[in-house]
Amino acid sequence: MHKEQKEFLDEINLKVGVVSQEEYDRIKGPLAAVQGKAATSTYRDFFKVPFEAVPSLVSTRRVFVQRGWAYVGSNQMAPLIVGHFKTHLKAALQAAAKSWPHIAATDECNRLAPIVSFLSKQYLGPDYSEVKASGGSAATLEEIPGLAQTHFPLCMRHLYNSLDSNHHLKHQGRMQFGLFLKGIGLPLDSALQFWKRAFAPKVPGDKFEKNYAYNIRHNYGKEGKRADYTPYTCMKIISSTPGSGEHHGCPYKTFSEASLRAQLQQMQITGADQKQVMDLSKNHHYQLACGRVFQLTHNGAAADEGINHPNQFYDLSRQCCQAKIAPATPGE
Ligand code: SF4
Repeated sequence: MHKEQKEFLDEINLKVGVVSQEEYDRIKGPLAAVQGKAATSTYRDFFKVPFEAVPSLVSTRRVFVQRGWAYVGSNQMAPLIVGHFKTHLKAALQAAAKSWPHIAATDECNRLAPIVSFLSKQYLGPDYSEVKASGGSAATLEEIPGLAQTHFPLCMRHLYNSLDSNHHLKHQGRMQFGLFLKGIGLPLDSALQFWKRAFAPKVPGDKFEKNYAYNIRHNYGKEGKRADYTPYTCMKIISSTPGSGEHHGCPYKTFSEASLRAQLQQMQITGADQKQVMDLSKNHHYQLACGRVFQLTHNGAAADEGINHPNQFYDLSRQCCQAKIAPATPGE
């Protein structure tokens, strides 16, 4: 490890193990196989940490793991540092939450309350207006049915299935689903074809052109003020309340207990796992419920960032599939 990196890790009090020359010589074969490092690497290019400190590297098989240690390249430090930062941030936020009743009783409340309220409603992740995270692989019209069953989060799979059986979705459902499809890279022409085909049993072609095509082009910034509309975040979806005959919103919030249970059953989530997801939903932790479902349906792969965006779920799911996730087992 380079001197500056070591100094930085010491400064933030992040303990990592040093890899000796002897140890490196012993593992350099498998290390090179996993990390793709060639003969130019030396023992100084690696350090070791408990494997649970870098779940995203382990679950995507980007590090060599032996006897509980993950051997991390000095160019792979980001997940480690982000994880460390998150742990500290979480502890600090918990401490702040505990102190809040005292702060609220002081004059500081007037200054801080609007900031806290504003922060809790902000989404600071990517806007998914471009297809990047899933490795730039844009979805095609033909792939949509398969992708819906394997890589869509429950909110989007529910919209897809409702559209498939009813041959119609009301405006909010079309917005939520249409922008999601745009975010996974479905081009405008394909989107027009997709909706036209789906509506065909109920809506003749000329009526579709007249009543629905404009809106789809509008979402792609080709009509009206030509804004590039972005897919909805979880927060926006969760805050919506679907009325009768509408299918948008977050199922972890909107589904009845029986419907959610049936959906989980269909995903082969049963027993204690099912109860855990049901409890999270009941306690209004919808994004955590979704993250747990992601983990259970992706062979244990964790959504490190939590699920904040349906397109994030989709991208992570495709990445897992590309990495052909297998259960992460430390050691030999
Ligand atoms: Fe969709 Fe987000 Fe709800 Fe998951 S948590 S089902 S991605 S809205």
